[in-house]
Amino acid sequence: MSITRRAFLSLSCAGMLSTLSPLKTWAGFDPLWRSGLPVGRPIDTSVLEIFKIGPGPSSSHTIAPMKAGNDFLALAKALPQEQLASADMLRVRLFNSMSSTGIGHHTDKAILAGLLGEEPETCSGELLDGLFAQPNDTRTVAIGSVRLPFSRQNIVFEKEHRKAPVSDVFTISLHAGEKTLLEREYYSVGGGFLQWKGWTPPERGKPRHSFDSMNGLLQLCQSGLSIPQIMLENEMAITGLSKATILKRLEDIVLAMDSSVTAGLSIEGKLEGPYKLERRAASMYKEALALPAEERFLASLSAFAHAAAEENSQGHRIVTAPTAGSAGVMPALVHMLLSERKKAMPALIDGLLTASVVGMLIKRHASVAGADVGCQGEIGSASAMSAALLAQVQGEAPEIIENAAEHALEHHLGMTCDPVDGYVQIPCIARCAMGAVKAWNAFLMAKTGRGTFHPVGLDVTIRTMAATGQDMDARYRETAQGGLALFYVQGC
Ligand code: SF4
Repeated sequence: MSITRRAFLSLSCAGMLSTLSPLKTWAGFDPLWRSGLPVGRPIDTSVLEIFKIGPGPSSSHTIAPMKAGNDFLALAKALPQEQLASADMLRVRLFNSMSSTGIGHHTDKAILAGLLGEEPETCSGELLDGLFAQPNDTRTVAIGSVRLPFSRQNIVFEKEHRKAPVSDVFTISLHAGEKTLLEREYYSVGGGFLQWKGWTPPERGKPRHSFDSMNGLLQLCQSGLSIPQIMLENEMAITGLSKATILKRLEDIVLAMDSSVTAGLSIEGKLEGPYKLERRAASMYKEALALPAEERFLASLSAFAHAAAEENSQGHRIVTAPTAGSAGVMPALVHMLLSERKKAMPALIDGLLTASVVGMLIKRHASVAGADVGCQGEIGSASAMSAALLAQVQGEAPEIIENAAEHALEHHLGMTCDPVDGYVQIPCIARCAMGAVKAWNAFLMAKTGRGTFHPVGLDVTIRTMAATGQDMDARYRETAQGGLALFYVQGC
């Protein structure tokens, strides 16, 4: 926090708090967060939950559903043998945005892959490409000794809206004739996180450093600790993993981001989907290399974002950062820093730790799911996290990091989610490039504005995003029923 901003907070917050009556504008608004003190449950999300390696094109529609398939398989296997032996059918019911964009987002393939025992981190893109490649494709799901056929006929794309705590809802059930042997209602809560009806948070360690806002974190940093130090120590306390294990996993994540760009740059041709869009990343990069230096940088960054986003749209291996739809943003910066600027791996890992806290705060106080708050939650969050990563890698102080993230998020506020035909292609791929460019610019604005007062902090921007998302018409929250999804006509 710049000195002027910190002074502003310390001078004004107490007064504001004492005079604030309960806010009428938004029921979830808690004015206490303004104090910057840890007022709620401390952030106890794991960095490894924010960055997940898995198949695209939408973490909430692929990674979480694949986990659900896996979870249901384990539940079904635990049924008493005589019950299980009577099972004759599996059924999946998709509701709300899971139904309206389920085909374009490969939700059907992801659930089937999970039921076949595949896991997001290791499931190959080729296997997913092959599922339901033909309309009558039928696979055999093995539940212990029971073998059940599974085709698209087993998936119901429901028209009815199901009320639930989140928008992404689906059920998986196992039947014996008319009898339901087992059913679970799943909630995909963004970024590949999965919950279900009756879900309780898993036991985990208490974070070593307690905060639930960026202002709270900045106060902790005043003791001389850096954000990566705080996040690493918290990660060890929360997960119980050793420092070496965590650092190795974070290195794997950096490398997976980098290779999603490299892979995308090496492929030309058409993307799978109704519009047979051209893959653009490789040719964009070729053109970029011929440009003058000042243009080459921006054009290359955009090409890198296209590369990872094109891979994502094909359901290939990407890293959620924080979601799959936004998986082109941070990898573009990572590739630029690692491959072109030759930054060292430890600096990138520090950047990842710092970026993760921005994602955690957004997840806690707003959402990273397009189905909850529109695209501001996906590309906006990715851009804010990337700006924080960049500021950290460049060795900037915590207040510059906070300001960089804030700039990037603030200037995505209100952005709707409107994937054409439910495919994570238009506008998602090019939007990743814009998110990457904005992240870099947000960092430059924070760096060059150092020492001056910046009136809006990251915490207030996150709350604003949550409230804006609540106000957003459902058509603009990953239902493919508004915006470009409504008006786009090929060739126009
Ligand atoms: S428009 Fe944004 S939020 Fe919606 S699917 Fe595309 S990237 Fe995700």
